[in-house]
Amino acid sequence: MELYRERIERLQQKMQQEELDLTVLGPSANMFYFSGMRTSPDERLQVLLIPAAGQPVAVFPQMYRKQAETSLTSLYEIRDWADSQDPLRVVSTALGGRKPRRVVVDDTLWSCHLVSLLGVFDDVPSLATVSALAGSLRLYKDRHELELLRQAGEAADQVMEKVRDSIRPGMTERQLGAFIENAYRDLADDISFKPIVASGPHSASPHHSTGTRAFAKGDFVVVDCGGLVGGYCSDITRTFCLGQADEEMRQVYKAVMEANQAAYEAVGKGCSGEEADAAARSVITNAGYGPRFIHRTGHGIGLEVHEAPYLVDGNREELASGMVFSIEPGIYLDGSFGVRIEDIVALTEDGAEQLNRFPRELIEII
Ligand code: ZN
Ligand code: ZN
Repeated sequence: MELYRERIERLQQKMQQEELDLTVLGPSANMFYFSGMRTSPDERLQVLLIPAAGQPVAVFPQMYRKQAETSLTSLYEIRDWADSQDPLRVVSTALGGRKPRRVVVDDTLWSCHLVSLLGVFDDVPSLATVSALAGSLRLYKDRHELELLRQAGEAADQVMEKVRDSIRPGMTERQLGAFIENAYRDLADDISFKPIVASGPHSASPHHSTGTRAFAKGDFVVVDCGGLVGGYCSDITRTFCLGQADEEMRQVYKAVMEANQAAYEAVGKGCSGEEADAAARSVITNAGYGPRFIHRTGHGIGLEVHEAPYLVDGNREELASGMVFSIEPGIYLDGSFGVRIEDIVALTEDGAEQLNRFPRELIEII
């Protein structure tokens, strides 16, 4: 409860500094972060109303009341509505008849709910998304969050071990994808995103949609997957070689592995998001593959797989203690193959900590 009280207080302080009236959160990572309640969005209105000062209110359908009572921290006053009622009247009453003017809304609140909520706000409300406000709070992980991220990282390493022991020619991308999903359900709470399994020429596409191709000898297979522990995500990528890699494959693999290491060393010494990106990119450029590294070097991770901070050109913000992010350089050669190596790194008072320990060296499945 203390955890949620602090988080709500920090949000309210920020709202006061920026003269905002109300924060509205829908079913999302933000709702979980500020209340402990995890629920899926649907056509029924479910919102947390957090004013700049005073009592936060949770408005939920009557049929969700039990779940709200058990999951939500008691810091919220619960107001429910029956299917025969208009939830907007409940929201309006919860706001004491006031019409908030400067409103912050959850980035992923369904637009049907936002459009109907506009009726209870001021005639011309000033709207902003919550990411700028709450994102800066969620950027710095506390010890409790870091511990869950460590556990999520360990589970991801264990899944990769199972992949290494099972992957073989003849298996299809989908078969390995299903195997990975089951492994995460055994070793963690669930998957954090649908696994990407990209084999042979498909590995040249960074976000390939796992298909029916069967692995062949001589393939590179990019496996990018992650799980959830206590709501926190892992995200790991390894590239396996089925059989022996040829000279070009080795050269590309080596450049990606060294780029991963260069970014890790850079963040350990303290640098900005764009400097971390440049550290990885310069290794790949020097190896002659600069134009084939077609995405940013990394992204923050926490309750969502992708969140701030981003390791990308243009992000001048310092990567600081409490931040947790991926380092995932890659090289993609259209029509032939691709390689990506991804780990999660946490910055603590003691420096950079790898949350993934699975070997980064080339693994040839003979
Ligand atoms: Zn990934
Ligand atoms: Zn990632």
